[in-house]
Amino acid sequence: MTRPIQAIIHHDALRNNLRQVRTAAPQARAWAVVKASAYGHGLARAWPALCDADGFALLNIEEAVLLREQGWKGPILLLEGFFYAEELKLIDEYRLTTSIHSNWQLKALADARLKAPVDVYLKMNSGMNRLGFAPDRVHTVWQRLRYLGNVGTVTLMSHFANADSPDGIARPLQVIEQALEGIDAPRSLANSAATLWHPETHHQWVRPGIVLYGASPSGRWQDIAGCGLQPAMTLKSEIIGVQTLKAGDGVGYGSRWRARGEQRIGIVACGYADGYPRTAPNGTPVLVDGSRTGTLGMVSMDMLAVDLTPCPQAGIGSPVELWGSQIKIDDVAAAAGTIGYELMCALAPRVPVVTE
Ligand SMILES: *Cc1c(COP(=O)(O)O)cnc(C)c1O
Repeated sequence: MTRPIQAIIHHDALRNNLRQVRTAAPQARAWAVVKASAYGHGLARAWPALCDADGFALLNIEEAVLLREQGWKGPILLLEGFFYAEELKLIDEYRLTTSIHSNWQLKALADARLKAPVDVYLKMNSGMNRLGFAPDRVHTVWQRLRYLGNVGTVTLMSHFANADSPDGIARPLQVIEQALEGIDAPRSLANSAATLWHPETHHQWVRPGIVLYGASPSGRWQDIAGCGLQPAMTLKSEIIGVQTLKAGDGVGYGSRWRARGEQRIGIVACGYADGYPRTAPNGTPVLVDGSRTGTLGMVSMDMLAVDLTPCPQAGIGSPVELWGSQIKIDDVAAAAGTIGYELMCALAPRVPVVTE
């Protein structure tokens, strides 16, 4: 036995969430986005449950190589392409699809000596202003790619900055349509938000990430409550200490919580060094022995405190869900001023993980 904290990765939930993506975008093929070690779930742990996807999209070549070594033979997309020209050797060897977003990459690809052509995603900047060719350059780049011996198929890719709002994609879609006029090539535009809420963006390939893990692209669980998605990660622990406070007693560093009267509190084996957000305020939702209650005081490195008033039966050893099927990661994140994405990606290496 070790410290009671544990993360559980639910394979059934991952499988279910991919099926929900299929239902939302029945005509499109789906890249399962597994960057950042499958959003903190662990790439090696998560991908077998997502292997009904048409391909995996990620960032590092190391993660791509891991997928190949573990037996994935289908498409793998490097969302940001190669960071150094030398990586083209591995892209060639492992038969990866690379995104191209800059002139230097175009030149490096043209100059490389490859065993066989590689498939390319031409990335266009449609207004997010992160990566991608300017719209008025896309036609020229596309023509160039088409006639390069090193290039197999070319797919046009763009990414939305505001697909979680109803009118967030009108302008970028206009820019995309205009830039792609006369270009007959497959397209990949939709992240999770666009996959769920903007079917006109689905085209040939969608690129969902966060919904596969059962959290909301908008940061609000209510927005996906009716979508049939299930949280793929549970973070659980136990009560390891109990204190009975009198009026005026403080809790934790800085005594940010002070009891107004007699109050039982529980100390949970979970802190910011486990990935729980230190910015969580008093009252951040938590489940103790089956009852919803809230955190109290400042989150410490290894511990946090919870109010035991709603669960007088709880004591040392009582189970605690920090997030999971009952306490939505989106709700914890919202309380702490962030999004579910950040919390799941920040699950700390010291937390033991099991799959179910
Ligand atoms: C991360 C990422 C996605 C997935 O985004 P979600 O909001 O998690 O669905 C899709 N496309 C690109 C280019 C990305 O970087």
